[in-house]
Amino acid sequence: MRINRERLWKKQHETGAIGAVKEGGISRFAWTPEYKRACENLMEQMREIGLEVRMDTVGNIFGRYEGSEKLPAILCGSHLDTVPNGGYFDGLTGIMTALEAVTVMKEEGFKPRRPIEIVAFINEEASQFLGGTFGSKAMCGELPPDYADTCRHRVTGEPLRKAMKEFGMGTDPDRLPDSRIDPKDYFCFIEVHIEQGRYLLDGDIPISVVSDIAGIKQFYIELHGVSCHAGGMAMKDRHDTLQAAAAIACEVERLALATGNDTRSTVGYIESEPGEHNIVANKSVIPVDYREADDRIWSQLYEDILEFVKKECEKRGLTWSVHSTCDLAPSHCNRSIMKVMDQAAEELGVRHNEMISFPCHDAVNMERILPVGMIFVRSSNEGLSHCPEEYTTKEDLGDSADVLLGTLKKLSNREQL
Ligand SMILES: [Zn+2]
Repeated sequence: MRINRERLWKKQHETGAIGAVKEGGISRFAWTPEYKRACENLMEQMREIGLEVRMDTVGNIFGRYEGSEKLPAILCGSHLDTVPNGGYFDGLTGIMTALEAVTVMKEEGFKPRRPIEIVAFINEEASQFLGGTFGSKAMCGELPPDYADTCRHRVTGEPLRKAMKEFGMGTDPDRLPDSRIDPKDYFCFIEVHIEQGRYLLDGDIPISVVSDIAGIKQFYIELHGVSCHAGGMAMKDRHDTLQAAAAIACEVERLALATGNDTRSTVGYIESEPGEHNIVANKSVIPVDYREADDRIWSQLYEDILEFVKKECEKRGLTWSVHSTCDLAPSHCNRSIMKVMDQAAEELGVRHNEMISFPCHDAVNMERILPVGMIFVRSSNEGLSHCPEEYTTKEDLGDSADVLLGTLKKLSNREQL
């Protein structure tokens, strides 16, 4: 049983073109008219192959293929929204490969033991309503109940409530918690996604079985000192926050390089006051972002950075505080699912390896409530993504769908993982 590559390629581009903008690329933001068109298009395709289709109260779409037995379902999919001027493949690949896999099962008369449910998550990119991986958070019960009022459009400032009301299709800002799923109803979650880098491209490998998804930590370090004359005050008498900030920025990089584990970190900028050439800075803010897949290193790094901040501030007579904005612990793919994916690729003769995902995905939230597995498919065109140049070849897309089909068939027959 193999997927139909021509059909998958055609559908990927038909649905993917919804939200195309004249400046180039695709801008398909959650709860917009373009997004609604994409939803209707996808739901129509699901109905055409006889799936049971529904949208939940936040806008996630589900298409269910019943199994031969009443068992917990395999959930499989990715996000339908894009970044501004994004590409045809980010997110959509996970939905269209799942749809193609189920289409082929139906055509060939293959009835899985377990139901297979395709999911299209809403607002993963959070291009207008910030936050990221919104749809999967809602499904996992991680959204605050008043989120429809507290979350606002980044440009207009209007609440999410208004966008949801205008969107319609059964979305209901007063019933966000109703989108929560019961983990008992599901066996596992599978996501196919483009790599969005050039690791597979450089290694000449079309497919990868993701082992872990790096945790993300983002926080602001605020330093307070005393501003004074850049000439008048002796060096030993200064409380210079910018010099401390610069040292901290260097240390953030040094510590990441020293873990020996491909940790990624950066300080995007340093904001200093009063920001004058000839005045010693009395306030500096340093935003730190780091990503790491190992739980122990992930927590240790935070402690090490703060330890350095403490010492640096003592040395310079500064006070400091930390404000955390993102604290997403690493996620780990289920080892049994990884093995199944490995076997599926092996049987098809598709070259593959294992890798860590540094970008965040909906799978991160799903991992908190279900065993997850993730397949990466090679990004071509220099590995570019989140831009109109984003590209994956027809062959690679087909390979990923075939590996997914093989994986779903195997998992659907499993009693347990
Ligand atoms: Zn994505």
